Amino acid sequence: MPPVVPVTVVNVGYRSTNYWVVSAGTSRLLIDLGYPGTLGTMLANLKRMGVPLQEIRFGLATHYHIDHAGLAQELKQVGMPLLVLDAQADAISAMKRWTKPEDGYVDITLDDNIVVSSAESRVRLEQIGIAGVIVPTPGHSPDSVSVVLDDGSAFTGDLPPRACAVDEESGRLVDASWRLLQQLGATRIFPAHGPVRPLDTEPII
Ligand SMILES: [Zn+2]
Repeated sequence: MPPVVPVTVVNVGYRSTNYWVVSAGTSRLLIDLGYPGTLGTMLANLKRMGVPLQEIRFGLATHYHIDHAGLAQELKQVGMPLLVLDAQADAISAMKRWTKPEDGYVDITLDDNIVVSSAESRVRLEQIGIAGVIVPTPGHSPDSVSVVLDDGSAFTGDLPPRACAVDEESGRLVDASWRLLQQLGATRIFPAHGPVRPLDTEPII
């Protein structure tokens, strides 16, 4: 098992969406996986930011919407192992309903992913030198997860600010998710859209 070293984070995003690369040296985790049919853009951005594709040990989608997971299968085909939290498993095959033929979406195969529980995720991340955990944080979608690193960085996908919850029920889920992130020591939010911000800007009831 490699020693856990301080991680670095770069953004390889495009089309107003952040795709975060968390690196422990040359051992890397890609969080959120691009739009369908944009492999060329993703590969060009990875190259520009100095991230060799073969150093990406896992790709993880914060949730299975096409701007976050649309490129997952194409990335698998060029060598990226796909890490899936068990709470997300059912959402994978449902995603294609939201794609159009012209999107060029390649269906995600289900039998060759690395499926882990939240409890198992710490060991999986440790294996690639990253100290942290993957937790379910529903509110934007039932399958939404966040990655919380021990250094306080939290990658939250589309989890909305409390004030933006669309209804009472999702508001409760959003509150619970933010509370969990706070309990896990999250201090810095790396969202899928918009700038990095401190967690304490989030009003938590
Ligand atoms: Zn979404």
